Amino acid sequence: MALEHTFSIIKPDATERNLTGKINAIFEEAGLRIVAQKRVHLTKAQAGKFYEVHKERPFYDELCEFMSRSPVVVQVLEGENAIAKNREVMGATNPAEAADGTVRKLFAESIGENSVHGSDSAENAAIEIAYFFAGIEIVG
Ligand code: ADP
Ligand code: MG
Repeated sequence: MALEHTFSIIKPDATERNLTGKINAIFEEAGLRIVAQKRVHLTKAQAGKFYEVHKERPFYDELCEFMSRSPVVVQVLEGENAIAKNREVMGATNPAEAADGTVRKLFAESIGENSVHGSDSAENAAIEIAYFFAGIEIVG
């Protein structure tokens, strides 16, 4: 299995509750290495561009408001099978359905305010990483 990169966001509900370190510890315990990281405060338009694939969904406006409400921490995580591994560590979108020990089970407040984002495919990981990071900022 090749070493992969995936893109992660620690969302506003989590940064507001000062959970960045606790969530990063879970990633590291799972064997994911944080090879790039910065804290940014997205505008609603920047959040909208990132989540453009969801623009027809009923929750799109609410999602963009939420993602621009407070700072987020954007990250590149590296590891064996990192994309699928991170999705496993995150847990299901709805925290009520998330497995024990997952980030969303531990910390998410609702299906919308669910603490973390993680890429769902290699193609999307590459697009999402390039939206936030220059190659020179990713140091494995
Ligand atoms: P995931 O983040 O698990 O990949 P999706 O890609 O389906 O989930 O949705 C993107 C984000 O949109 C979710 O993480 C969540 O913040 C928000 N979202 C998804 N479904 C709903 C919903 N039914 N109501 C409100 N917000 C939602
Ligand atoms: Mg998704």
